[in-house]
Amino acid sequence: MLYFILTTGECNLGCRYCGGSFPIDKVPWKINYELKLLKDFIEKDDDATIAFYGGEPLVNSKFVEEVINKINAKRYVIQTNGILIDRLREDCWNRMDAILLSIDGTQKTTDYYRGDSVYRSVIKAVEKLKRIGYQGDLIARMAVSEQTDIYDDVMHLVGLGFFDHIHWQLDVGWSDSWVDFEGWVERSYKQGISKLVDRWASEISKGNVLGLVPFLGVLKRIKKGGVVPPCGSGVESVSIMPDGKIRACPISFDAGWSVIGELDRSMEVTLHKVGIVGECIACNYLKVCGARCLYFNRERLWGNKGFETVCELTKFTIDLIESRLESIERMVRDGEIDWDDLDYPKFNNSTEIIP
Ligand code: SF4
Ligand code: SF4
Repeated sequence: MLYFILTTGECNLGCRYCGGSFPIDKVPWKINYELKLLKDFIEKDDDATIAFYGGEPLVNSKFVEEVINKINAKRYVIQTNGILIDRLREDCWNRMDAILLSIDGTQKTTDYYRGDSVYRSVIKAVEKLKRIGYQGDLIARMAVSEQTDIYDDVMHLVGLGFFDHIHWQLDVGWSDSWVDFEGWVERSYKQGISKLVDRWASEISKGNVLGLVPFLGVLKRIKKGGVVPPCGSGVESVSIMPDGKIRACPISFDAGWSVIGELDRSMEVTLHKVGIVGECIACNYLKVCGARCLYFNRERLWGNKGFETVCELTKFTIDLIESRLESIERMVRDGEIDWDDLDYPKFNNSTEIIP
């Protein structure tokens, strides 16, 4: 199981698509439960992955350290903007199996959304991780919005040569920062994503697998299917909020449906309690898409029309990958490439797969 631990609701940035910290009355900025409760809950699982999350998890770096030192888990992961990298000891960084650093692509795109000099800070964080000998999976975690040029921004991150994998998720379904989402899809994203799939497939034909998580993850789901929703929320992933509530998904902080338990066991944790609803259940793309995102599936904050536009885009992306399946399989059969190199993620590392 994947356990998101929200170490605080506070964030040290105020990015345009998100706005920063959670409201303190809804997601406390300090931990309000005993560590022992968390330890007892997680250590029952011999296949536990802990993912530190926030807010910005390093705002409460002491708690991150405490958890790493006192709670046994098979794997540790962190999603961070990296700015406070010096707050966590080097040995703790080197215990992480995956580090997801928030960066949106080029300096222009990243700083536009996240603030002046954020790009530079992330690069410095990456340099430090390399310097201290970090050997785990270093993942660039992009939020994709209206200023993003998906081809240029992704390829910029590939070109840096630092990241093992690049993951992106569209800032859609609840954001109110868009001027013209549908226009951007037609004018920019669809063309960019087609070009990116071409490039990815062409590199594979040369025996070089670019670590583009949405493409690898979709390819894996085409071959093998997978959990619904793809992030595993409420099924193989739970989120422990700073107040000890256990929710299906880490961002559903105010949704009544998402509470599935309490750390103090005043409410036992019930997996599979909140499933997907609506048209996804009978959709032909469900095996691969997995309903994309539980929160998106349930909340419909963009209404049915907005939901459908995002679905069309998801189907478009899946079709593009599917169109390359035969040639990729042929290469595997001919021994030119190994499936193992395409098999990603090896465990639920908190990359949500569907963009
Ligand atoms: S494509 Fe849309 S309707 Fe189909 S499973 Fe995905 S989110 Fe649901
Ligand atoms: S993909 Fe959706 S349901 Fe899953 S963790 Fe992210 S916001 Fe929550």
